[in-house]
Formats: sequence, structure tokens, C-alpha cells
Amino acid sequence: MKDRKNYKEELRQWAFANGMSKFGVAPVDRFGEARRGQKPEDLLPGAKSVIVMCIKLLDGATSAIYRKYEDGMDDVHGIYGTYGYTLGPTFHQAVVVSEMANKIEMETGELALPSFTGGPLVNGGAFSLRHAANAAGLGEFGWNGLMLTPEFGPRNRFCAVITTLELEPDPMYHGPRLCNPEQCHICVDACPTGAITMPGTIPALEVHCGDKTSAYCALINHKCKMACHTIVKAAGGKEDLVSLDASEPEVEHVLDTKPFEKEGMQGNPTWRCGQCLTNCPVGNWKGHFYDTGLVDHLLENKKQEETTIEKEPEQVIAALGLPEIKGDGR
Ligand code: SF4
Ligand code: SF4
Repeated sequence: MKDRKNYKEELRQWAFANGMSKFGVAPVDRFGEARRGQKPEDLLPGAKSVIVMCIKLLDGATSAIYRKYEDGMDDVHGIYGTYGYTLGPTFHQAVVVSEMANKIEMETGELALPSFTGGPLVNGGAFSLRHAANAAGLGEFGWNGLMLTPEFGPRNRFCAVITTLELEPDPMYHGPRLCNPEQCHICVDACPTGAITMPGTIPALEVHCGDKTSAYCALINHKCKMACHTIVKAAGGKEDLVSLDASEPEVEHVLDTKPFEKEGMQGNPTWRCGQCLTNCPVGNWKGHFYDTGLVDHLLENKKQEETTIEKEPEQVIAALGLPEIKGDGR
């Protein structure tokens, strides 16, 4: 058997050589709060470690979201759907986790089970990759409920390999606080349907993992669905198929009876909002999207304008109470 410490480093380097942006290891005892059927040992009996990786989303693909909100070009948003959501990162990660699991089984004789987002192929998507990334110390939860990494903010996709191989765990993320929703709340302001509420409005969701407690907004799921499926004009829909204060059953009824779309592989696309992902300032938003000209202006998001535009990165960091993070995550 190979030396465990060296082998972890070998896997890390292999992940980076295969296009991954971050790598961490969580021991299975950090998943104590996961529901039955979603714990690593439920999926792979005898599991000891979860290797978690992320891929940074392409700035170009992410910026396509702005085209719909700035210019009304709904079709262009599909570029994000393809290269930021369903196909690009998903298929890439499917190959990487499958090959890594194969490498572990061949080289160590231990068992390894790949897990990735699923995208259009949702078989076996029970494992929460956001929570796995938290457990592996890759970042911390933002108020928007997304996993923020210091380097890329919420603009990541995660994948994992659950294995019976015992690897040295990485510490939980204890770097500078990334999200301060009382000061920032850009995701609340940017959310077109009110799915993300201001801190203190409704009880937050708490997560206890390792030596860390996190809290994030209890998303109003059916309001998020209204936007992600564009069944309201506020989120760029062609017509209001429900009102913004519609109940969950009303929204579900519209989604259940909505005809399949003829274009694209996903008959019922789920990626047509993403405002909480594109507008979060963590991960040097200004450098990636404003200074580069990828976003011209931010309609109705005065908070982002006040805090981010026209300011140098140091001023944004000070205004939002964010840490300055450099590097590419390696
Ligand atoms: S937009 Fe602001 S409040 Fe929302 S998750 Fe990002 S840093 Fe936190
Ligand atoms: S995807 Fe859109 S609707 Fe859903 S929480 Fe994010 S901003 Fe709100």
C-alpha cells in the first residue's frame, strides 16, 4: 500500500492536472447531520473519506446570465445553462470523478464511489456536494445558501469521490469570514422573486459540521423555482404564469403542466436565474466581471453599484467586511 500522505498529495496533483480548481478531504464523521440515505456510509458502506473537488465556472459562461437581465437576450442565457450548469462542468466532472475512483480502486484495492452534480442525468444525486465542500474545508456557506470559496465566491461546481481509503482530513475553513449578509445582502436585493430573505426575517438554517457552525438563509424554494423556470416576468419570463405571491402548490401545478420545451437537451430548464451566483462580490467579482467589461451595468441592483462599482477592490473589501484573497486555490 502506498504511503497515505504521499498518496493524498498524488491525488491532489492528479485532480489539478485534470482541470479541477480546488481539492480537500473530509472524514465521514463530519456528515453526522446528513439525512438517512445521504451520508457517505449509506452510499458506500465502510466509507472513511470524502474527496471533494471544485471546478471554477467560466467567467464568460457566467457572464451570459447578465445578457438576459441587461439586454433581454434569453437565448444567450442558455450559454450559461450549457457551459455553467448542465453540460460543461457536469460532464467534465463526471469523467474526473469516475477516473479518480478507478485510480483509487486499481492502485489501493479500496472502494471508491464517484458523485457529481448530475445535471441532466440525475441518477444518484442524493449526496449534497455543497455540504461535502463545507466538510472538506473548501469554503463556507454564503447567505444565498451556496458554497463560497475564497477564490471564486459561489461560482464553482463541486464533485466528490467517497472512498473506504483513509486519507488525512483537511481542516474546516477558518479563514477570514467571506459573507456578512447584514452588511452586504446583495443576493437578497438581486433575487427577482424574494426567495432569499433578509437576515432576521425567518429562522436561518444552521449546519454543524466538524468544529464549525454555519448559518444560511432558508430559501423559499417555490419562489426560487418561479425564477429558475422563468414562469414570471420579474425573472425574465415572457408572461406571468403565476403571481409573485403564488403558493407552493400553485407553482408546482404550473411546472407540472408546463409543456416540454423543444430546444435543448433539458426539456424543463432549471438554470434561468442564477442572480445570487452572478452578483455575489466574494471571489473578486469586480475584477472578473466589472473591470473586464463582462457586465455593463446592473439593473435595479443599486446595492452592488453602491458597494462594488466605481470602487477599487480594497474599498469593496472594506465596505463589505470581506477578506482580500489572492491565489487560485491550490
Ligand atoms: S451576495 Fe453578499 S450576502 Fe449574499 S452570499 Fe454573497 S457575500 Fe453573502
Ligand atoms: S436562483 Fe434566482 S430566484 Fe433562486 S435564490 Fe438565486 S436569485 Fe433568487
